[in-house]
Amino acid sequence: MTGKILNTIDKVDVAGKRVLVRCDLNVPMADGKVTDATRLERVAPGVADLAKRGAKVIVVSHYERPKTRDPKYSLKPIAAKLGEIMGKTVAFADDCIGEPAASAIGKLGNGDIVVLENLRYHKGEEKNDPDFVKELAKLADIYVGEAFSTSHRAHASTEGVTHLLPSYAGPLMSAEINALRAALDNPVRPTAAVVGGAKVSTKLPILTNLVAKVDKLIIGGGMANTFLKAQGLDVGKSLCEADLVGTCTEVVAAAKAKGCEIVLPTDGTIAREFKAGAASEVVAVNAIPSDAMMLDIGPASIAHMTKVLEACKTVLWNGPMGAFEIEPFGKGTFALAQSAARLTKEGKLMSVAGGGDTVAALNAAGVSDDFSYISTAGGAFLEWLEGRELPGVVALMRPAA
Ligand code: AMP
Repeated sequence: MTGKILNTIDKVDVAGKRVLVRCDLNVPMADGKVTDATRLERVAPGVADLAKRGAKVIVVSHYERPKTRDPKYSLKPIAAKLGEIMGKTVAFADDCIGEPAASAIGKLGNGDIVVLENLRYHKGEEKNDPDFVKELAKLADIYVGEAFSTSHRAHASTEGVTHLLPSYAGPLMSAEINALRAALDNPVRPTAAVVGGAKVSTKLPILTNLVAKVDKLIIGGGMANTFLKAQGLDVGKSLCEADLVGTCTEVVAAAKAKGCEIVLPTDGTIAREFKAGAASEVVAVNAIPSDAMMLDIGPASIAHMTKVLEACKTVLWNGPMGAFEIEPFGKGTFALAQSAARLTKEGKLMSVAGGGDTVAALNAAGVSDDFSYISTAGGAFLEWLEGRELPGVVALMRPAA
């Protein structure tokens, strides 16, 4: 995607136009109620702006993975919540194509908003079926992509429709891409990546891509154990993928060749049981008892990794440094996240984080508001870190003038 820029909607005349906005309204629900409205709060300003500029705003989204039309997966309560957040009437149509959609859209005045029913009630959505794409496209004059989190999938509403309508990135999509590009493609150096989480196997493509791009790669979490084993250390009963020891050695060699320093823990918090409140102690990584597991990075590692961050201008973060959900093994993640947040607040660091567990970990650390940007996208964020082109983003790019 180098040499290309996003085609953004901000300067397009949308007054009186039917604008199809692909959002991600796939929010957590319980008993028919939205339990976490973060995604709606993020999408609302862009939708409100289009309405203010006189567009007839048609919001589409998937919700979960329904096998068939099932009221359990209706977007209706989510549309109501979006209206509540926006302080504006938001209409709802019982289908995302056909007569129900067309008639609801026909009733829209300039500045009005409608949410259409779950795209995934139709198999054509995920199949990117040309007939379904045509049905969607005929509802609108302009397409706006706002769902970065689904842009790694070439579905009808994320990719197919962009071939039939003038297509633009909305403000949320733009903010997300700009933050990721600033952290990974065009960063202020030196740059660091913090990668943690359970296993090397699930993040190998990320590690391989990052060693070629960042100056410092801080590795923590369970995956650090396999790297330590590759250095010949005994990691006891710690989570470790012995079959990937050779792969870790290759990653280290690739990093060296690219001038990337890999930073591993030098000490860790160990326990003999993987449960809350288990008796724990701090040991050096070369002194892990054979019957113990390393479940978090230790204070010396936190201090050293903080120093590394202090010497960097940009950090990209994915994955926890330990089993943060279980007390006391969240300390390493929380302390390092607090260091990154402090440096960000002091204007010394640009910090971008994302990926499912990472957001939960940063929330638990109480620093989510202090990072420069936190992506709520899971799979799409990880695929971006892997260096893959995302079809729903590529579709909104144009060559730089
Ligand atoms: P991931 O989905 O790969 O980012 O992994 C996140 C999970 O890794 C979290 O549920 C953590 O509890 C777990 N984790 C992190 N560090 C460790 C560790 N040292 N040992 C076992 N599990 C860990």
